[in-house]
This record gives sequence, C-alpha cells and structure tokens, in this order.
Amino acid sequence: PDIHSLLSTPLTVHKRTIGALNIDSDQVDAFTPEHERVLVIAGGQIAATIETLRLLEEARRRADELAEANAQLEAQDELRRELLFQVSHDLRSPLQIIHGYTEIMREEMLGPLTQDQKNVLGLILKRSRSIEQLAKDIISARPIDHDMLNMQMLNLNELCRQAFLDAQMLYQDAPVSFAYELHSEPLWVEADYHRLSRIFDNLIGNAVKFSPDGGTITLRTHLDEDESGQWAQVSISDQGIGIPAHKLPYIFERFYRGDRQFRQRFRGAGLGLYITQQIVQAHRGKIWVESQENVGSTFTFALPLVER
Ligand code: ADP
Repeated sequence: PDIHSLLSTPLTVHKRTIGALNIDSDQVDAFTPEHERVLVIAGGQIAATIETLRLLEEARRRADELAEANAQLEAQDELRRELLFQVSHDLRSPLQIIHGYTEIMREEMLGPLTQDQKNVLGLILKRSRSIEQLAKDIISARPIDHDMLNMQMLNLNELCRQAFLDAQMLYQDAPVSFAYELHSEPLWVEADYHRLSRIFDNLIGNAVKFSPDGGTITLRTHLDEDESGQWAQVSISDQGIGIPAHKLPYIFERFYRGDRQFRQRFRGAGLGLYITQQIVQAHRGKIWVESQENVGSTFTFALPLVER
C-alpha cells in the first residue's frame, strides 16, 4: 500500500531474462527518464556480473570434477604399474628354471643331441633371455637410452636370416609368405641383441597383422652411405593395407592407432613402433617408413656400420 511508483528493468543475458531490477517509492510520479536510464545501465551491468559469476562457478565445478576424475585415473595407473611390476618380477623365477633345464639339455647331460636340436635349444635360451631383458626394462620403468644397452658386435645379415627363420615358424598359419635378400658382405654393427630382436619382432609382427589378404613379407639388408658415414640398413616390406598419407606423421607416436573404424578392425596398443623407434634412437640409428595405401609398406632402420 506504500508503493506509489515502481520502476522495473529486466536483467537479460544473451537475450534470456534471468531476473528483474526494481526500485520503488512511496511518492507518486517519483521517477524521471533519467532514473530509468540509470536503472537500465545498472541492470545491464548487474546481469553481466551475475553471468560472469555463474560461469566462474561452473568452471570451478568442472575443475573439481576433473580433479576427481584425474585422481581416480592416477590411482588406476598406479595399480596397473604395480601389477606390471609384480608380474615382471615374478616372471624371473620360471624363466631361470627354463634357462636351467635348457642349459642341461644343451650340455647333453640328459643324453646326446643332434646339431639341429642343439641349435634350437640355443635359440630357446636366447629368446628366454630376451624375455628376461624385457621384464627388466618394465621394472626399470624408464625409456630405453644408450646407457642401458648391452653392446656387442652383431652381423645384421645374420640377425635378418634368423628373424626370417623365426617368422616362418611363428607365422606358419598366417596367410603370408616370407623372403629375404641379404647384402653380399657381412654388415657389422654394435648393438644390443635382445633390444634389436624386439625391433624385428615388432616390425615383422606389424607386417603380418596389416597384410590380412596375404602377400610376401621381404626382409632386406643394404649398405648405405651419406655425409655422416656408412649405415647398415634393414628393411621389412609387406604388400598389405599400407598407410594413408595423413596417418604417416603420427604412426611412431605413443598409443597412436588410427581412427575408430581402424581400431575396431585391427587390435593393438599403439606401442610397437614407439618402442621400436626408441630402441633405434638409443643405438644412434634412424628409422623411417615408405608406404602406399593398398600397395604396402616398407619400414627401414639404419644403424652405424662398424669395422670388424
Ligand atoms: P599397433 O600395436 O597398433 O600395431 P604400432 O605402434 O606397432 O601399434 O603401429 C602404429 C600404427 O601404425 C598401427 O596402428 C597402424 O595404423 C600403422 N602401421 C604400423 N605398421 C604398419 C604396416 N606394416 N602396415 C600398415 N600400417 C601399419
């Protein structure tokens, strides 16, 4: 009953009314156009401030949600790391037992062996040592660098031939066939046998996986020379699906696997090429790929050649 004048302006944000700003008076005709102008200006500023605070509040709420999700992820990650650590650690005992018995057989303590049998037992020993090295790498939980390598003189031709034989055995049920062409002279490099084996395993594994319609996978060794010296090179070519140009810059990135449709078609973790590149770089080497969609891919890595 006391109000005889009322001035009201809507508070609007992006054309949406979120409230009203009113002033009243017990006087009749209390307000002038000047009052109205001031009220409209004040209403505009109040509306903008309310909106800013609302946005701030929203941002704060989202940040809290993100922090919580992050904490959960970190806890999961920690658990996964712990599990990996334990599994890697516990792999050691059974591996040592495999070593022990294989060694006993190879030494002919359980009876005489043919040379072929001895060779195969030698391969089992080498490969189980590779697993041991892998477990150590996982436990050390740091990227492979030059200081971690156990260097020895290796002939890449020999490694390539062995990788070919291993692949023939391992992928005998796959629709692919294998071939190899070696440089005429031995290609000596200083390298870590177990880590180098992982390069072959990863590149040949990919070549098989991405050749769903078959074809030949060819392992080649070459000698190359540039301004920085001589390089021993290994290339692994397939006649598989190839890699479209837009994917090429990313394939060596950690966890990169392509679009969703591709990921559904081919399983994988997107780690193989990342690890492969890390090992090559730790050897002060280079790796690259040439590829054409639906024609095939050639991955080549080069290590500095050393004089025997
Ligand atoms: P993944 O475990 O997914 O195979 P990699 O790091 O080994 O992870 O490879 C990354 C991606 O590079 C693959 O998902 C695939 O898209 C592409 N790629 C790698 N090797 C080949 C190949 N030989 N042919 C076609 N695509 C390949």
